[in-house]
Amino acid sequence: MSGTTNLQPTNLLGLPREGMREFFASLGEKPFRATQVLKWIHHRHASSFDAMTDLGKSLRARLDTIAEIRPPAVAADRTSTDGTRKWLFAIDSRNCVETVYIPDGHRGTLCVSSQVGCALNCTFCATAQQGFNRNLDAAEIVGQLWAARRLLAEEGHEGPDITNVVLMGMGEPLLNLDNVVPALELMLDDLGFGLARKRVTLSTAGVVPGIRALALRCPVSLAVSLHAPDDALRDVLVPINRTYPIDMLLAACREFADALPRQKITFEYVMLDAVNDTPEHARRLARRLSGLPAKVNLIPFNPFPGIRYRRSPAVVVDRFRDILMAAGVITITRKTRGDDIDAACGQLAGRVTPRSRRVARRRGVQAAPVLQGA
Ligand code: SAH
Repeated sequence: MSGTTNLQPTNLLGLPREGMREFFASLGEKPFRATQVLKWIHHRHASSFDAMTDLGKSLRARLDTIAEIRPPAVAADRTSTDGTRKWLFAIDSRNCVETVYIPDGHRGTLCVSSQVGCALNCTFCATAQQGFNRNLDAAEIVGQLWAARRLLAEEGHEGPDITNVVLMGMGEPLLNLDNVVPALELMLDDLGFGLARKRVTLSTAGVVPGIRALALRCPVSLAVSLHAPDDALRDVLVPINRTYPIDMLLAACREFADALPRQKITFEYVMLDAVNDTPEHARRLARRLSGLPAKVNLIPFNPFPGIRYRRSPAVVVDRFRDILMAAGVITITRKTRGDDIDAACGQLAGRVTPRSRRVARRRGVQAAPVLQGA
């Protein structure tokens, strides 16, 4: 016995089907209660137990005391001239994460964060600069999708609904799999968001054991941030390459592809002027990817203050793409979206507690929470 009482209500937003069943079983309730509540939460956007009229009054009252449906609060909300929308969501009194909605024709993609900050230190990424703060729990990951969908619906917005989810926001999702897996399960479940596996993409900087675990626990579409065709350069750009070098990474990708036939793995490649964008880099990249069910996504670098890299010129990006295509590698250049509101790839910071404040706190100085809209 730990002797402590858990006074924290369970946030039902993070419970997938199995977890919800266990939760109701622990209350002595039948499994169909889980189905009812999942539908209320995810199909009808209910955020109070009062609304759940097919549950008895006493059960609703009981749920009120031990559970909650608590989405993250909107701390800032900006819309780009291209329609891209970025929310800064407060997940607790000190931390915020960013979530981006990207409308594109009939497709609406939501880019979701999995951690506050990131521990991986990729040298061209704004999130890396803030360091790692903490993992998001499943409710905080799903809560971004739940809140974005409800906010869009309440506004009666004109763009497409959310049809695709990408875990490409802040953080390295494969270093937070215990929370990411239940979140993915809810995205895929018909009682949750009901998205097809191919419409849910997880992007990793190359955490090899995580790729294997994802294949076993909840395979969805995989994107890998490759960014360099050889280890010497990738060691610098994506330092986790020193632990899991390219050969090892591509072997894991091959295994993943075998587990998910007919689906291509996306390799992301940020185009950094005069760093990784020469024709020779393109040829080496094509050689490395040959034989893999791969497609390449070229991402024009998005700058942020204090960064020494520059974006490759458009002609250089086109030439790089042409070389890959000629070698038989399907390649598209990612459209830069939302860069006027710092919502583009690699620009998400969502920072609330600057390092100096954290230091102050460690020294016992009380620092008020600061919510900084990026
Ligand atoms: N940690 C995961 C997911 C987050 S990043 C990963 O590394 O894949 C999502 C994508 O944006 C990654 O491919 C990342 O390398 C890329 N990215 C990071 N910083 C960028 C920048 N400044 N410009 C363009 N793309 C960037």
